[in-house]
Parts: sequence; structure tokens; C-alpha cells
Amino acid sequence: MAFGWIDEQAHTRRRAGLVRTLRPRPADSPLLDLASNDYLGLARHPEITEGAAEAARTWGGGATGSRLVTGTTELHGELERELADFCGFEAALVFSSGYAANLAAVTALAPHGSLIVSDAGNHAWLIDGCRLARGTTQVVAHADPDAVRKALGTHEGQAVAVSDTVFSVDGDAAPLADLAEACRQYGAGLVIDDAHGLGVLGDGGRGAPWAAGLAGAPDVVVTVTLSKSLGSQGGAVLGPARVIDHLINAARTFIFDTGLAPAAAGAALAALRLLRREPERAARARTVAKELHTRLTAEGHEAVRPDAAVVSVRAPSPEQAVRWAADCRAAGLAVGCFRPPSVPDGISRLRLTARADLTDGQIDRAVRVIGETRPYVGVTAVHRT
Ligand code: PMP
Repeated sequence: MAFGWIDEQAHTRRRAGLVRTLRPRPADSPLLDLASNDYLGLARHPEITEGAAEAARTWGGGATGSRLVTGTTELHGELERELADFCGFEAALVFSSGYAANLAAVTALAPHGSLIVSDAGNHAWLIDGCRLARGTTQVVAHADPDAVRKALGTHEGQAVAVSDTVFSVDGDAAPLADLAEACRQYGAGLVIDDAHGLGVLGDGGRGAPWAAGLAGAPDVVVTVTLSKSLGSQGGAVLGPARVIDHLINAARTFIFDTGLAPAAAGAALAALRLLRREPERAARARTVAKELHTRLTAEGHEAVRPDAAVVSVRAPSPEQAVRWAADCRAAGLAVGCFRPPSVPDGISRLRLTARADLTDGQIDRAVRVIGETRPYVGVTAVHRT
């Protein structure tokens, strides 16, 4: 039977407790949200929704075509200029998603015969970029500039190192300045995904490259998403103008994809302008993350020290992670649940978003609910049934 093998996979997945299902989010959810990527609490901000509405009224519900045909509006140009300027890069190019931006950057900058050195903890989209690129990928130890040096030293010719700036599973940061130094030593480029850094790290949220002193560097290319701290949808690549021109001419996910929807461009532009006016939002997200981490570890939870706005709490097993997240939800708290195969090390986690707009009372409530619903582990521990 066609697709019969799917049933077998579904059965294995059920037995491992790894089935995923979709749950529609109500417009006015009563849950306290520590699950979304809305780091600055901007997705529902009236200036952002009005930016989207105004752009849709002016330019239409969709981009109507690929960027090289009819899909480029003045709004796209404005967003690209302001994004590049905000983050300190010469030029930017927006895409319909961060995924498309990552595929574009890695595939177009790693041609046949080149080497791609990829961090073992990289996000799925960078991994897909490596898989689609014509260059050869070498995966190296997580956050290890010496491993990058060693890999680059084995290769003659063009090379790029690719890394997340903030890793999405544990919320830890890459040693960006050291990575850039390692790349320079070997004449290699550095492609970094700042999906979780933009809006949170760097002066006023200008991103992790800014914080590491790499903004505007001629050998650094940055990908971002517009869907997290900017409360919109879409992605972008930032870098030297000649790299951006190359992407316009060579990146398949730019050339063949429909342009970013005007509403998404309008929302992102409004968010950027708001961020310039209210730079304290970025620092608040970092403070909330540190506060959550301090409080949770003081109560005996195993949580990685956050470098940005992601707080990751370890769970004893995939089943217990799912159960823990469900118990949190029943108690009014939405948290993310990461488990295999989404986690490279097989360790399941609750993933908490330290939103800048969380009040001290909401932080208290989140910590209390996570503690009260915690599955017990250890020699004397018994999981509640
Ligand atoms: N990179 C990282 C590190 C991400 O976490 C995500 C979002 N999950 C993306 C890229 C992709 O962004 P988008 O959702 O805009 O495709």
C-alpha cells in the first residue's frame, strides 16, 4: 500500500511518546505565555499591527511575485535600509522567512569545492543550508573556535564557518569574536544566525554581532528572522553590499520565492522603529532571563545560564517533559517542550521565553507553577501518576 510505511513510523513514534499534535492558539489566550518567541512582547503591539494593516492596505495582501519580478515594493527597500542601519551592516536583503534567508546565505556562499565548518549545535535551518550547499560540510564541536581552526587548517581554498549566535535549545551564546578571529586567520567567511539575538543582545537589541564588535565586518554575514523579537514574519541576510548583490543574483530562495508579504514588512519596520525609541526593551528581556534562571536554579531545577532570552530547564525524559509542559498548561502557564528528535543530545527540556513585558508578578507565577508541576526524579523519587 502506498505510504504504508508511515503507519509503522507513527507506531514507533507513539511508543516512544514522541507524537506531535497541533493546538490552535485562541486570540485571547488566558495562559501566561512563556512559549512563544515574542521576546519583546511586540506581536500584538498596536504600532506593529497597525504597521501591518497600513502596509496591506497600501501594497496588498501579498507581494504578488518574486522579488526580481513584481515582489519588491518601496517598503521592502525601506525595511532593508533600516534593518542594515540598525544592526550596523552595509546592506540587507529580506526574505519570506528566516529559513529562506539561512538557505540563501549558506548555499550561495559555499560553492562547489568549498568547505563549510558547522557547529554541532546549529539550528535545523543552518543544517539544511549545509545539506543543500555544493560545498563539503564538516561538523565540529559545539562553541569551539579551536575545532573551527583545526577544520579550516585542513582545507585549501574557499571556506565558511557557520554558527548560531544564540543556540535555540539551551539559549547559550557562541564565542563570536573568537570564531571571527579563527576565520580571519584562515581567510574564511563567517555566517551567523542571529535569530535569537536580534532585539535582545547588543546595544538596544542591535544583535549579537553588534555585541561582539562584529557589526559591519567585511567577512561576516548575518541571518535573522523577523518573526521573533520583531513580532512579525520573514527573514533577512545582513552583510557587505557585494555579498547582498551576490545573493540577489545567486540565491535560489531569493530568486524563486515570492517576496515577503507587505504586511510582514510593515510590521517589522514598525517594530524596528519602536525598538529605536525604546531600547530598554532588550535589556529587560535579558534581565527577565537572568531572574528566571536564578530563581529556578535556586529551587533545584537544572537550567543552563542564559546568554539571551531563552531559558532551558532540563526534564528527566521525553514523556516527563511532555507531561510537565501539559501540567504547566493546566495550571495556566504555556511553556515550550523540546525533545528528540529536535534536540541534538537527546535530552528533553522545557523552554521558557523571558519576554521583556513579563511583570515581576508573572515571573513569580511562572516559577511557582514550574516548581509545583515538576516531575520528581532520583533514587527516592516517584513520578506522579
Ligand atoms: N534560525 C533559528 C536559530 C531559529 O530558531 C529559527 C526559528 N525557529 C529560524 C532560524 C527560522 O526563522 P523563520 O521561522 O523565520 O523561518
